[in-house]
Amino acid sequence: MKTLTILGSTGSIGTQTLEVAASLGYKVIAMTAHSNLELFEEQKNKFTPETAILSSEPGGEDKLIDIAKNSGADIIVTAISGTAGLAPTLAACETGKRIALANKEPLVCAGEQVMQTARKYGTEIIPVDSEHSAIFQCIENKKADGTRPPHQINKLILTASGGPFRGKNRKELKNITPEEALRHPNWSMGKKISIDSATMMNKGLELIEAMHLFSIPPDKIEVVIHPESIIHSMVEYADASVIAQLSTPDMRLPIQYALTYPERQTSLTKPINFAELGKLTFEKPDPDTFPCLELAYRAAKQGPKTCRILNEANEEAVELFLSGKIKFLEIPKYIEDRMHKCLL
Ligand code: NAD
Ligand code: MG
Repeated sequence: MKTLTILGSTGSIGTQTLEVAASLGYKVIAMTAHSNLELFEEQKNKFTPETAILSSEPGGEDKLIDIAKNSGADIIVTAISGTAGLAPTLAACETGKRIALANKEPLVCAGEQVMQTARKYGTEIIPVDSEHSAIFQCIENKKADGTRPPHQINKLILTASGGPFRGKNRKELKNITPEEALRHPNWSMGKKISIDSATMMNKGLELIEAMHLFSIPPDKIEVVIHPESIIHSMVEYADASVIAQLSTPDMRLPIQYALTYPERQTSLTKPINFAELGKLTFEKPDPDTFPCLELAYRAAKQGPKTCRILNEANEEAVELFLSGKIKFLEIPKYIEDRMHKCLL
């Protein structure tokens, strides 16, 4: 039986990981949470882990790092939200085990350090983010010597749902409230990533995440809007063949794949009914209404320092928007100003 440690068990990814673990019969030996004590108690009673800590308690941060590094689990699921997950992710990189990586901000702000630490300790990083899981599945066909064939890849094509405001113009988004921005059409997620999806910064962070996970430059990563969220991403090869991964939108599938890889097992996900679906559609991102994606491309091209500033400024801007201190359209401006200031 495989054993799991879940960092951030009470969140959207954390709770879905517990569902998947129960369905696969994996044993959860350690879990951590930062808030929502009631749910955490419920989870502890149901899954009876050997260790469970609340990282917001005094000394909690050290305990969190200790669990990430020393729980002894076969797989560590990083499901903490934001840059708060960087230190535990780096600690998990030192285990030589497998990381099922959902928490994307550590790769955005310190991608080289995370990937290098994992390589040094022989830790395997399997992506959970649906786009990166899709790409991972599309390039899984290793050569006989075990290496992947990156030179045969023309580009990665990241799909984006477009979020709750797809098709809207700046005027229509002037007075958007946090409640409206949190209402994602296809996915139910934590607050930070929901706002990132509304501004399209989520796709920008995913662009930088993909660069590190697949060692590919930003000019070989394209973003296309695909509102149905059925194709989770694609890889175009040298011969113009495109390989895509499809499923109904359900995070439990990429979570499960990161746990069972290279095996595939029966999952909780409903199969696609193509006839019912009828068609899949695609459109270009709109850079006027959603400038965050371009800011991320700029940061990705400029290098790690700019990526770190982009990530930090975005986290601050999301907080300021959620607490009513800035408006929705001020988020990209706030990030761009910080990028300018820090690079002068
Ligand atoms: P969430 O806000 O629902 O849950 C976050 C979890 O981390 C909770 O258990 C919370 O208690 C814990 N946490 C919060 N702040 C913490 C801190 N300072 N220290 C330690 N623990 C803390 O977030 P989520 O939607 O589950 O997203 C988690 C990560 O996965 C994010 O990086 C997100 O970008 C990524 N991701 C999420 C989804 C999704 O569908 N939710 C999809 C792809 C990627
Ligand atoms: Mg994603």
